[in-house]
Amino acid sequence: MELESILLPGVDAKRPLVIAGPCSVETEDQVMNTAKQLSSRGIKIFRSGIWKPRTKPGGFEGVGTIGLPWLKEVKKETGMYVATEVATALHVYEALKAGIDMLWIGARTTANPFAVQEVADALKGVDIPVLIKNPVNPDLELWIGALERIHNAGLKKLGVIHRGFSSYDKKIYRNLPQWHIPIELRRRIPNVPIICDPSHIGGKRELIASISQQAMDLNFDGLIIESHCNPDAAWSDASQQITPEVLEYIINLLVIRNETQTTEDLQTLRKQIDECDNNLIEELSKRMRIAREIGTYKKEHNMPILQTGRYTEILDKYGVLGEQCGMDSEFIKKVFEAIHEESVRQQAVIINK
Ligand code: PEP
Ligand code: MN
Repeated sequence: MELESILLPGVDAKRPLVIAGPCSVETEDQVMNTAKQLSSRGIKIFRSGIWKPRTKPGGFEGVGTIGLPWLKEVKKETGMYVATEVATALHVYEALKAGIDMLWIGARTTANPFAVQEVADALKGVDIPVLIKNPVNPDLELWIGALERIHNAGLKKLGVIHRGFSSYDKKIYRNLPQWHIPIELRRRIPNVPIICDPSHIGGKRELIASISQQAMDLNFDGLIIESHCNPDAAWSDASQQITPEVLEYIINLLVIRNETQTTEDLQTLRKQIDECDNNLIEELSKRMRIAREIGTYKKEHNMPILQTGRYTEILDKYGVLGEQCGMDSEFIKKVFEAIHEESVRQQAVIINK
């Protein structure tokens, strides 16, 4: 894919490229106050949502066009570049009219090719950097498809944002990182900058530092982090926003390792192992939740916890399956025995309550 490497002039090329700002534009004071604090800490690109796609009606859907002059003011007062999310042709026209410097396409929009095409058509012939968030569902083709639609409209300053993927069972993360997906995107389109969004992946402040480090270890180019002058009072995504001060602290703590082929390869593999282990924990906890539901059912129907037939069936079935997948069947039996033991323990707690 033919791309221009500089997204915005004057922004340091060294990793990480940092974009920061509140989830949403709320008031003129809130954006200006936050922007000044970020700018004084060296942040060059300010993000903030004017139009907010919410999963359910009734949430804060953004201040809309009245907020655009406030971003213009941020630009004038701080000299920062300003970025906002667009989802329709109207958003594009309004944002361009207001002199917004960079646009991003949100995860819910990327998942809809009609919407992406509408945005692409509205951008035809416009030279503005656009970042494309991954779709909410883990579909690499859909993500690349969105990138191609914008590229086909003639835009060359493109980047992608990895913000994780929805899952039914939310445990550690708000959106599962599934690192192998952006890694595969890097392999398919090596020259597109990848920016990690630890705020939307983690969904909570405490996870931002470690996810950011992980992204840097995977050689991602940048970070987009939600930062608010008063995070607890934020009108959207309060639990994942941090003050500019904390943001500075997190950025300064990051270890940026220089690329050396062999160790980097090992890093990538280790990160993949970490991801597998995280997935194992999530799946196990999902399994235990279901086991507890079964426990409740058994209690209501006066059934015994242990049903030997079912247990033997599981051990045999997965022993064979494990072997077919290149693992020792004894090893698989041991794993399932341990899992079964914990399920029985959890059901016993319920039955004896
Ligand atoms: C956002 O950036 O505030 C946002 C709405 O993110 P996403 O599209 O990743 O959910
Ligand atoms: Mn947000």
